[in-house]
Amino acid sequence: MSQLDTLTAKQKYGFNKLQKRLRRGVGQAIADFNMIEDGDKVMVCLSGGKDSYTLLDILLFLRQHAPIHFDIVAVNLDQKQPGFPEHILPEYLARIGVDYKIVEEDTYSIVKGIIPEGKTTCSLCSRLRRGILYRTATELGATKIALGHHRDDMLETLFLNMFHGGKLKSMPAKLVSDDGKHMVIRPLAYCTEKDISRYAELVEFPIIPCNLCGSQENLQRKAIKMMLQDWDKRFPGRIESMFRATQNVAPSHLLDRNLYDFSGLKTQDTPFEGGDTAFDHEPIPAAEQSATSGDVQIVTLN
Ligand code: SF4
Repeated sequence: MSQLDTLTAKQKYGFNKLQKRLRRGVGQAIADFNMIEDGDKVMVCLSGGKDSYTLLDILLFLRQHAPIHFDIVAVNLDQKQPGFPEHILPEYLARIGVDYKIVEEDTYSIVKGIIPEGKTTCSLCSRLRRGILYRTATELGATKIALGHHRDDMLETLFLNMFHGGKLKSMPAKLVSDDGKHMVIRPLAYCTEKDISRYAELVEFPIIPCNLCGSQENLQRKAIKMMLQDWDKRFPGRIESMFRATQNVAPSHLLDRNLYDFSGLKTQDTPFEGGDTAFDHEPIPAAEQSATSGDVQIVTLN
């Protein structure tokens, strides 16, 4: 018996709401960014973690109900990490009846052979993985590559880039790959990690542990995740507001001279669109005002 079968009527209602929220979020992101078009073949990258399982599950549902036709092929890259349970994904994918391909490439040994013990392996590993996935997409004739990153991954990346990279840059919901040949999409862009975790738990996806490579978790990302989780608990609504901010950028109120022509600014006799009150402070919404004391230095970042 699955966990879903044991839910009370109230819990079942909660699950249906959660499922609808996730499906609506994915549908909205697809529509907002024109992620999937009629005739597309979407290659869903499946790692065996909660995010990619949820992504595949929702895309399969939307494919059945969308007014357009698109195909889905699930791809897993078996990197030959010790202890990788290679039967789990093929069994799951065959059971749900989706087209799939398991690509076997021993990037684990390559990375271990090149990177000295104790040094971080992620950058080479992900470069190799990226190349293999692009090649696979070409071989399969996929027109879109779908990744399972969600809203919280995007916010963490925004802070990582600000804190350590000196850039105001998050993770795009849609982008052209670095080799120029592929369109990469992130349909979970509007979905929260909390919802995805709960959904994956209730649906009981056969999760594959993500620490098989033995690489240390990125400590900086972990610290930022903790900071955001702490903010979320203490200042409800702040995370949502920050995410909305990434969709509501005012280049004229930042300092990037490549984004806004400050040198060419001229006064005029009529009201100026985007003009500023200049001497007044922006009003801070009441909820944020009450939260502005003591909200710094919650987590020490390494
Ligand atoms: S955590 Fe492991 S599998 Fe993931 S990118 Fe880093 S080295 Fe590769």
